[in-house]
Amino acid sequence: TTFSELKLADPLARALSALGYEEPTPIQEQAIPHLLEGRDLLGIAQTGTGKTAAFALPSLHHIFTQDAEPPKRGGRVLVLAPTRELVGQIHDSFVSYGRSMPHLSVAKITGGVSIGKQIKRLVHGNDVIVATPGRLMDLLDRKSITLAHIEILILDEADQMMDMGFIHALKKIVPLLPKERQTLFFSATLPPKIKNLAAQFLTDPVKVTV
Ligand code: AMP
Repeated sequence: TTFSELKLADPLARALSALGYEEPTPIQEQAIPHLLEGRDLLGIAQTGTGKTAAFALPSLHHIFTQDAEPPKRGGRVLVLAPTRELVGQIHDSFVSYGRSMPHLSVAKITGGVSIGKQIKRLVHGNDVIVATPGRLMDLLDRKSITLAHIEILILDEADQMMDMGFIHALKKIVPLLPKERQTLFFSATLPPKIKNLAAQFLTDPVKVTV
């Protein structure tokens, strides 16, 4: 498979060739066609497999083709990840793949920075929000953000989020999203606890293991 066969929107195809990506990695090849059809996904994949692009590209394609303004508050795509560092990398990937998309807005929500500044930046809605569950919970408790307009939810490194004790935050956050949404769940491992969590959040998912 080539990237052109995946039929990603033009600005994404241009970004990929500017970045020198020649062909999709196995997880991209197996996941992207289903994600473009709107299916839920359970992805068992480690870092280094290209999983970030596997979820970022179809999400950006959705934003570009289902053209709409970002909501007045909140966002259209929500990515949850365990650490500040990972949130930073995912944020930068969305910005990089979305470089040719006009007016794309990607927000980052993590601890370690002033919550007041973060709240000010969230006064306007964004296309994509990348967050750690802990800081997102803080903002939700303060009613500083809404998740009512999220169309796509992505949980990255779910096993690590569980290990870090984010299970309670996740169980509080996910019910605040619209029931009608697309959900992507990535984990490096699939012990019974993670399998149960995935079953709670996903509807008839495609399963991809790399
Ligand atoms: P990830 O597994 O998402 O952390 O990605 C690992 C690295 O692979 C990142 O530095 C990406 O920029 C790079 N990458 C992802 N997809 C491709 C691709 N199709 N071709 C070349 N490099 C890629």
